[in-house]
Amino acid sequence: MKNNKKEKSNALRNYIYMLRFIGKHTPFMLFGYLFFDVLATLPWTLTNVVLLKYIIDVVSEGKDYHRIFIALIGFVLFIIIGNLLTTLFYEVSMPKQKEKLYFSLYKTIYEKAAKMDFEAYDNPEYYNDLVLAMTSMNDRAQAVLSNTQDILTNIAGVLTIGTVIITIDPMCLVFVALCVAIMTPIGRKIAKVNVERTEAMTPLDRKNLYFCRVFYLQDYAKELRLSGAGKMIEARYNKNIFDRIFTISPYLSKQWKLYFCQESLPMTMLIYLGITIFMGYKAIVTKEIGMGDFAATFNGAASISNSVFAITSWFAISIRENGLYVEKFKRFMNAKEKILSGDVKTVFNKPVTIKFENVSFAYPGTEKKVLKNINLEISPYKKIALVGYNGAGKTTLTNLLLRLYDVTEGRITVNGIDIRDWDIKSYHENFAAVFQDFSLFGATLGENVSMNDTPDKENVKKALKASSFDRELPEDTDSILLREFDENGVSLSGGEAQKIAIARAFYKDCPFAILDEPSANLDPVAEYSLNHSMSKASEDKTVIFISHRLSTTVMADEIYMLENGEIVEHGSHEKLMEIDGKYAYMFRLQAEKYNEQQNAKKD
Ligand code: ADP
Repeated sequence: MKNNKKEKSNALRNYIYMLRFIGKHTPFMLFGYLFFDVLATLPWTLTNVVLLKYIIDVVSEGKDYHRIFIALIGFVLFIIIGNLLTTLFYEVSMPKQKEKLYFSLYKTIYEKAAKMDFEAYDNPEYYNDLVLAMTSMNDRAQAVLSNTQDILTNIAGVLTIGTVIITIDPMCLVFVALCVAIMTPIGRKIAKVNVERTEAMTPLDRKNLYFCRVFYLQDYAKELRLSGAGKMIEARYNKNIFDRIFTISPYLSKQWKLYFCQESLPMTMLIYLGITIFMGYKAIVTKEIGMGDFAATFNGAASISNSVFAITSWFAISIRENGLYVEKFKRFMNAKEKILSGDVKTVFNKPVTIKFENVSFAYPGTEKKVLKNINLEISPYKKIALVGYNGAGKTTLTNLLLRLYDVTEGRITVNGIDIRDWDIKSYHENFAAVFQDFSLFGATLGENVSMNDTPDKENVKKALKASSFDRELPEDTDSILLREFDENGVSLSGGEAQKIAIARAFYKDCPFAILDEPSANLDPVAEYSLNHSMSKASEDKTVIFISHRLSTTVMADEIYMLENGEIVEHGSHEKLMEIDGKYAYMFRLQAEKYNEQQNAKKD
């Protein structure tokens, strides 16, 4: 019971949080939604009760019929003005207000998502909240508004009609109270079954979303066409539909009985029959009230019962359901960052020394140390290669240097300052990073290289040249990439896309570049020319690159070979070949494979 109360007050608080959010960003929408609907619906409710009573009273009195005419004109004017204002609001202002609200909502969500720690993506709860915020908060904001609007309309109805009925015969309200007293617990039961039904259907809804994604995302399109995966997924989809019908059936059979009991019995017995007999007796037999009063109480009691019931179900169903979603949105918005910013705001104009001192690291929520006691010193301007088998810890090491995660033990310093003391934004300005899973954006070629909307054309071209991107595009650096924003957007091969991503590192005027697998999608010729131009274009930078292709590492000043999170060898290519250890073994293996392939091609 206590929990139930707490849950309701939390839900109400969440509901108010969403209303305040809407009010802060689009106050006119909030005001309009709440005011205009009351204005549009109240006259109709009043017509049924007050106008009807007035007309019947005048007719019963048998004189001054012109009063009916005046009342009618008054009501019609009221309705027309109300309609005019609500139509103006709903058809002209609201669509714009809605856009404004969605803009504010998504801007808030995007800004928060972009600010959150990278590690938050490893946290399923945060990730679910993010997905939920992205996919359903606009509907929720709309639902909160509509529900509040309904409730205000109902409250206005109860207050006005209730006042009229009290003046006629307060006893009628006893019938109403009885009707509501019977309807409300049944309503609560319905709400409970509804919640149970939603919970039971949630995993099946999630599966449905997955099926949608598989059939609309390009990521799956190739496999669907070339293999039997489409049929396999379709079979699962069919099964899911059967599961849905099977799961929902018991709830439906409970619900129809409850709805029937709730709607038919109290309404029919107490309002339609009870009040008709009671007030009819007073109007016809004892003549205590007029026929107008009789008609008004009959209509008014039905309307009040429905309104009071709507208000109580609102507490039981809508507040709870919307509150639950808003709770997750709030949790997402209030999620705290763990990677905290320091005060140092230095952006270097030339490379300085980077040091890893006894660095160990385990990913959040895991025990296993994926980096163990790493010590390394990178002098300015050096070209450093990180090599090793998959899972050795190379990407993790660069993730730590970029402060996407914080070290578990030890420290990393840049120019002698612990990187945790740095203001994160300033710190990142010192680095250009190209990731293995880089992304191109639906923007111009120039913007994709500069990563801002004011690319310097000459520098973009220089950077593209350095990364060996030599494709001529119709509008040069102004050509739009991808098709999202332009039907004629340029499609690129994997290698071309990678060269554009690499060009970002050359474009950015900063002392450090980190390249994760820069040549993964390149053919050997492109790789050779990338190596060549990379050393030239990055003369003024320290470069740290991860590579599986050991032909790329030959040019590095220093190579660090990692295994199981530890540095097992380091030195120049020549030195490591001389030692004839693990690096030399890997290098020879790759060289042999490459030669075999070339020979096979010749044969
Ligand atoms: P490499 O780049 O050398 O292939 P990684 O640095 O990507 O290796 O991975 C090192 C280890 O860390 C692997 O065992 C990998 O499974 C683990 N790992 C990588 N990312 C995560 C993560 N987000 N959460 C937990 N473990 C991770």
